[in-house]
Amino acid sequence: MDEKPDLIFTLQKAGVALPPNAERPFFVLCPFHKDRRNPNMRVDPGQGVFHCFACGAGGDAISFIGLQLFGPSFNHRDSEMFKKVLEALERYEVPKIEYRPPPRPKELNQDIVQVLTLSARVYHLALMRETSRPRELLGAERLV
Ligand SMILES: [Zn+2]
Repeated sequence: MDEKPDLIFTLQKAGVALPPNAERPFFVLCPFHKDRRNPNMRVDPGQGVFHCFACGAGGDAISFIGLQLFGPSFNHRDSEMFKKVLEALERYEVPKIEYRPPPRPKELNQDIVQVLTLSARVYHLALMRETSRPRELLGAERLV
């Protein structure tokens, strides 16, 4: 488990309108760009992370405060910026909570990698043949 500042609490303090039952992932209007009609920011309360599909803003509670204070130039490795963010989190009295670590990406097993490599080679050779008709090979002609 990972202990991090509570993202939902941070969003509330920042005045982001949250759905009444903020337990499962939900979308809100992104405060980091002009998000007017369709909420573009996905918030995952289980992992304490957010991501805006329109402007790309994303991260955890620390990134959220950092973006609010410094805009897109926020860099959590900059010790001065990081200090200011921690101060803001303290001022907001954001509690730390346990988050489960993000799931590890599923690794492709060797057999699947081998099959993908072989089929890529088969298609490559077929497409590079002088007589080949790529659109036909790819089944595109049937769509027209
Ligand atoms: Zn955004």
